[in-house]
Amino acid sequence: MARFSIDLKSGNLADQASEIILGIDLGTTNSLVAYVNNGVVTTVKDGKNERTLVPSIVHFEKSGEILVGDVAHQMLIHDPQNTIYSVKRLMGKSFADVQAVEAYFGYQVIDDGTDNLVKIKVRNRFYTPIELSAEILKSLKIRVEAELGRTVSKAVITVPAYFNDAQRQATRDAGKLAGLDVLRIINEPTAASLAYGLGKTEAQTIAVYDLGGGTFDISILQIQDGVFEVLATNGDTFLGGDDIDRSIVDHWTQKYKLEINPEFSSKSGVQSLRLLAEKAKKHLSSNDEFRTTEKGIDFHLTKPQFEDLIKPLVDRTVACCGLALKDAKLTVNDIQHVVMVGGSTRVPLVKEKVGAFFQKPVYDNLDPDEVVALGAAIQADVLAGNQKDVLLLDITPLSLGIETMGGLMDTIIPRNTKVPCKAGRQYTTSVDGQKNLKIAVFQGERDLVEHNRKLGEFILRNIPPMPAGLPKIEVHFVVNADGILKVKAKELRSGTEQAIDIKPTYGISEEDMGKMLLDSIQNAETDMQVRAILEAKNEANHILLSTDKFVSQHKDILSEAELSSILSLQTVLKIVVDGSDKDLINNAIENLNEYSAPIAHKVMDVVIRQAMKGQKV
Ligand code: ADP
Ligand code: MG
Repeated sequence: MARFSIDLKSGNLADQASEIILGIDLGTTNSLVAYVNNGVVTTVKDGKNERTLVPSIVHFEKSGEILVGDVAHQMLIHDPQNTIYSVKRLMGKSFADVQAVEAYFGYQVIDDGTDNLVKIKVRNRFYTPIELSAEILKSLKIRVEAELGRTVSKAVITVPAYFNDAQRQATRDAGKLAGLDVLRIINEPTAASLAYGLGKTEAQTIAVYDLGGGTFDISILQIQDGVFEVLATNGDTFLGGDDIDRSIVDHWTQKYKLEINPEFSSKSGVQSLRLLAEKAKKHLSSNDEFRTTEKGIDFHLTKPQFEDLIKPLVDRTVACCGLALKDAKLTVNDIQHVVMVGGSTRVPLVKEKVGAFFQKPVYDNLDPDEVVALGAAIQADVLAGNQKDVLLLDITPLSLGIETMGGLMDTIIPRNTKVPCKAGRQYTTSVDGQKNLKIAVFQGERDLVEHNRKLGEFILRNIPPMPAGLPKIEVHFVVNADGILKVKAKELRSGTEQAIDIKPTYGISEEDMGKMLLDSIQNAETDMQVRAILEAKNEANHILLSTDKFVSQHKDILSEAELSSILSLQTVLKIVVDGSDKDLINNAIENLNEYSAPIAHKVMDVVIRQAMKGQKV
């Protein structure tokens, strides 16, 4: 049962002295919770059926009751519209992000017009993915409280290494909504390696292969002095155990002509066939043959047949491993250990192929379903102050920066910087008397912000009016240990300041993130050219403006000839600045500078002389 009440006061309070912080694996398919009590790591079981995994499924009853876990799983067949699964895929996403895969969901995914973020419509109410994830977390919290007989409120929650700021923040918010104080968000591969106690002694480079229900991730981690660093990630967000099940369903459908069998072609018939396929798959992880009779059909599948079906899927995951290694600039020889995570790594062919690729036996002693939660619990115990030899560190997956003149990306924190980290830079205004300055924050590797991903923006207001170039505006970026970005802008002369925590208005798909990196590499050359032109134009506009100012202030000191020469050089610059030849622009800038610099000196001398005279009087 997902919802049951317990009398907390009657529980065993003996352990009250030692603080317990939960480790939670909030998975796409299954979630679970673990904790360390007096040095012993325990996964929490559902008292009734001894299962540690809670299916990440939320069902809404007509009565308003909300069911989570196994009971909700049952409802997938009977009431799919009001049964929400895979909500993790929607975390921190905009409707536009998920529109392409909308058909994938059996429930209604919509845009309710309030913000860009995706909503789920159930029984005429709109839910955010955060609210739905919070239901799963609440149910986990209730479970563990029932087991411990006391309330718990602190937790560490894991997320995939590729989760961006929005997705991490959404996960954190879900925890808060469930009544949990989320002390830290940590990466799933980091948690898995912690569970295996890796990296406690010498420095190590390891691969964490995670094949779950609907997603596949490979992460390359470096652990040194108890510090974890993600060197690279790769994967496929639509590849997992579900696809294995589907390949069996397809095979049987063809073999037994099920599309014309009314027992298996109705909506619930298809669902029950899927469950049967999953049963066969699990059976074949430890047996050579599966056989059963259902609704008059003798279903049969041998291990070699099964392996033939799934070979292409497994090969795809291995190809991703190669890409991740390449990204980390490593070869298989650099990898000391390979950790297996996720229920689907129980399939023997998966272990074989992965072991063969990395040329070493894989780590699979721990339950692949539980290993992430176990590691999260160990991290929680570290935070509780019970273990002191481990530190966690991750990196920023994409560069972070702000938009500057001409739509250029100015990177403040480069990609692959270890977090927590901070960096700042000074900017100024480009117009006299400018009172407001827009700070637009972007993520990505391209030189133009239009090709990067906007994370958010804010306006620094009430800058005291000053000539252009005089205000000193410091923009500060801080990425905390969870990978969440805080941006602060301060005008140093007046002290006026403004800050935001980045809660992006729209999300990003994991594929897009990989694509962004690839784009930046493929477009590096054009990007550099575009940047050079834009920088020349910015410089030109700046010089034109200051020359105008100079001329209008000192008209009376300048000769007719000087004025007309400056004007004609300015005209040339004004013409070329509209074109796109950076050499022409730079030449025109140089000509104008060369001519006006000595004049400016002369004018300054005159101005100073006049000032001195004034003093004498
Ligand atoms: P997630 O991380 O996406 O929440 P899990 O790690 O819990 O997912 O993996 C769930 C997947 O593992 C499901 O597709 C399930 O069918 C599969 N699985 C569980 N046990 C086995 C097994 N014994 N053999 C093969 N696949 C299994
Ligand atoms: Mg998982």
